[in-house]
Amino acid sequence: MDRVKEKPMNELPLMGEGEGIVLFYPHVPASAIPAVTEVLQSRWIGQGPRVTQFENEFEEKFTGGGKALAVGSGTDALHLAYILAGLKEGDEVITPVFTCTATTIPFLYMGVTFRFADVDPLTLNINVNHVRQLVNEKTKAIVCVHYGGLPCDMAELQAIADEHNIPLVEDAAHALGATYRGKPIGSLSDFTMFSFQAIKHLTTGDGGMLVVKDRSLVPKAERIRWFGIDRSNKQKGTWENDIWEVGYKYQMTDIGAAMGLAALHEFDQTLAHRQGLFAEYVKGLKGAQGIQLIGADTSDRTHAAWLCTALVDDREKFMHYLRTNKIESGQVHYRNDRYSVLGGRRDDLPMMDSVEDRYIVLPLHMRMTAEHVRHICEVIKRGW
Ligand SMILES: *Cc1c(COP(=O)(O)O)cnc(C)c1O
Repeated sequence: MDRVKEKPMNELPLMGEGEGIVLFYPHVPASAIPAVTEVLQSRWIGQGPRVTQFENEFEEKFTGGGKALAVGSGTDALHLAYILAGLKEGDEVITPVFTCTATTIPFLYMGVTFRFADVDPLTLNINVNHVRQLVNEKTKAIVCVHYGGLPCDMAELQAIADEHNIPLVEDAAHALGATYRGKPIGSLSDFTMFSFQAIKHLTTGDGGMLVVKDRSLVPKAERIRWFGIDRSNKQKGTWENDIWEVGYKYQMTDIGAAMGLAALHEFDQTLAHRQGLFAEYVKGLKGAQGIQLIGADTSDRTHAAWLCTALVDDREKFMHYLRTNKIESGQVHYRNDRYSVLGGRRDDLPMMDSVEDRYIVLPLHMRMTAEHVRHICEVIKRGW
């Protein structure tokens, strides 16, 4: 790696097939390959002992006593969280407008009504003041997303949730390894969801984790992850052979869990590398004209550095300029009210309106070195 760093940019390995520096690249540690091979040669390839081991090791690292349930995707985890939070048809929730569609889509499965909260233009996280305006006696839950990996204002959100005696659900798909006031994301609120989709910090191909704080909910969580069947009693031969609630097919496989365990064992280095790249962007873009990094200012929280997002002038031109310099950029997520299935454009989101034509995501992944980031910053500082 050090040798690579010393080479001039035009000799650095290209990130993709002649694409220059791509926005994302999946990170699969070398140790995952023998681990997966071993599973493939064993009797358990579906949900088996590796899934349990992955859950246990994940809990030790991130949940502060909460129960981790491995599932087939982050979206599965969110759907389960919304059910376990007690949401039913006709209920109303407050949820961020700026996120992956996965945060919002499960409400359509459930007939739950959602009110979009605006962004905080400094972080692109949920705007706590707007949440305060929206919350009312009909609100049954608050959902937040740690955009890019920067934790939301959790103390304020928790205070609003407590005041109304409703659960807080964290979509922490971007935030594995982030901390808030010294505590890991995953240990804070009633429900926290993580995604192990291909380009997230830690990947199982597709997969996710739901962390449930209240352990009395775990038997139900485990049942509805698997058709509504009490699997442990079934395996012991003591299951009464009845299903009385709607369940899903949301479990993780041992193949995915073997990948997850391998990545978990290297997670500290992965996180440090990503945070190092982010810090290099902060340094490299200091004082640059026409561009302002999002989430660079973190006093009581640490950024998991999944995305490096900036607000830029003349975004179209900026993207085109980067592309001619073989640097990929993109928007990644879109305001969810652009989708007609989610109800279409809302007109009460002035902060989202003010940033929607300006935000841009820059490359940040495990194939990059600090040298790549410095190169990108130099290109940007030449102007577009
Ligand atoms: C990736 C992502 C999800 C969904 O995860 P999947 O594992 O793809 O289902 C949810 N929310 C956010 C913010 C995401 O980025």
